Amino acid sequence: MENLKRIIRPGRGLLPLLVSCCLLGSSWALNAAALKVVTTTTMISDAIQQIGGQRVDVEGLMGAGVDPHLYKPAASDVIKLSKAKIIFYNGLMLEGKMADLFSRLSRQGKPIYAVADSIDTSKLIKPEDTQGHWDPHVWGDPVLWIECVQNMTQALVRHDPDGAATYTSNSKKYIQRLKDLNAWGQKNMAKVSKDQRILITSHDAFNYFGNAFGFQVVGVQGISTVSEAPLADIINIVDFIKEKKIPAIFVESSVSPATIKRISEDSGAKIGGELFSDALGTKGKMESFDGEKYDLGTYEGWIGHNIATIVSSMAQD
Ligand SMILES: [Zn+2]
Repeated sequence: MENLKRIIRPGRGLLPLLVSCCLLGSSWALNAAALKVVTTTTMISDAIQQIGGQRVDVEGLMGAGVDPHLYKPAASDVIKLSKAKIIFYNGLMLEGKMADLFSRLSRQGKPIYAVADSIDTSKLIKPEDTQGHWDPHVWGDPVLWIECVQNMTQALVRHDPDGAATYTSNSKKYIQRLKDLNAWGQKNMAKVSKDQRILITSHDAFNYFGNAFGFQVVGVQGISTVSEAPLADIINIVDFIKEKKIPAIFVESSVSPATIKRISEDSGAKIGGELFSDALGTKGKMESFDGEKYDLGTYEGWIGHNIATIVSSMAQD
């Protein structure tokens, strides 16, 4: 079943690529002929690289630590997007300030995919304070992210049928790694006592993550980072932390830590560390925890680091 939301069906683009590849026939030509993919978030960039390997040339617009809610496309981004053979973005209004640009590209006939838009709405979360919008942070749940990986794989196969075997094989191996990582995460998060499985962070990026790993989630700034937390909310959260005796709260890599620092001072809960929320970490920086080793610039590093940070500061030995 084809479940990826397709904005537009392109009629051309791949043929010149294949011709130049066949005529030149060298490894240089193969690289030059790699499918030019432009992505928004670092999570999507990583997934496309894992699925596509050498067949794709991935250009991610947002780097490590970049907040996609606030990201405004630069003139150079518009050029990159117009040169792309295929574009992937998260959707569900995560990239709120790029919506007009995406619809313009779509009208121009550019193949452009919102990887999260095709997830069955029964699996999506609609928080109370979001004026009816779905929560876009679907990568927090490895099972939902695997669905997005499958969607991306289908789109790559459709645009580059000669690479079908490569994409399918890479995708299968990658999905197995994500399943193993999820099982490892479940095992570790179970070390935090049941009545303290409450995750307090800057903004509501962790609803899916919390669902996946059995944590209640409280984000002090709400679903987007656009507005600051009101004072009354801060006071309520301080009282809540004291009442539940929550040992640690967390700052996020892509959001200012000021509010969380204040809540930490007022409540006595320590800052348990920095979680990755809407962006991956630095590529090539390795970390390990409980037998798992991961690159912080990958999605596996996103899950691994967050689990390690939470378990290290909240689990009782
Ligand atoms: Zn967010």
